[in-house]
Amino acid sequence: MARYTGAVCKLCRREGKKLFLKGERCYTQKCAIERRSYAPGQHGQSRKKTSEYGMQLRAKQQARRYYGINESQFRKYFAMAERKQGKTGENLLRICESRLDNIVYLLGWANSRAEGRQLVTHNHYLVNGKKVNIPSILLRAGDVITVKEGSRDSEKIKAVLETNGSRPVPQWLDKTSNYEAKVVNLPERDQIATPVEEQLIVEFYSK
Ligand code: SF4
Repeated sequence: MARYTGAVCKLCRREGKKLFLKGERCYTQKCAIERRSYAPGQHGQSRKKTSEYGMQLRAKQQARRYYGINESQFRKYFAMAERKQGKTGENLLRICESRLDNIVYLLGWANSRAEGRQLVTHNHYLVNGKKVNIPSILLRAGDVITVKEGSRDSEKIKAVLETNGSRPVPQWLDKTSNYEAKVVNLPERDQIATPVEEQLIVEFYSK
């Protein structure tokens, strides 16, 4: 499935909640949800009753959009989550959180998850000292992520680090310096800030 390349704020307005797809702007009054919290389009302000199935579908779409994951990959993650011990919904979120593009964003080394994906593809980070250019790789407890030495002087990376340097980092990640961080453990549910109700996703795929 092709990646969505349209206006990302429309995705948030359709879901009626912030999905934080645009970096710094998401935290300001310029955010489209702050200004127009109704769905885009001619009928965006009309009230619609959402069915149970509709709510489950929306929850799945919200999670996919929040993390920038395509449908087939998301299904694979769900299958992985089902095979693991514990609650499937939480397992699913934990898998999404452990993607390299997400972690790079959470560390403040990218303005958004989409940019994290792009910067990983452009070889700006190392994992355990090795070059990695696959945004979807899943990190584990103990993995160390580094901004590549040759990238630290790049204007782009310098600007990103400066913009996001003061953004709080979740406790399951230990930022040991501006350029290095370690995955302490994979997150517990209360350490995951996603606005998604994961139980609805489990119900969606269980039909
Ligand atoms: Fe746009 Fe970010 Fe606001 Fe979503 S949260 S509407 S991406 S500015």
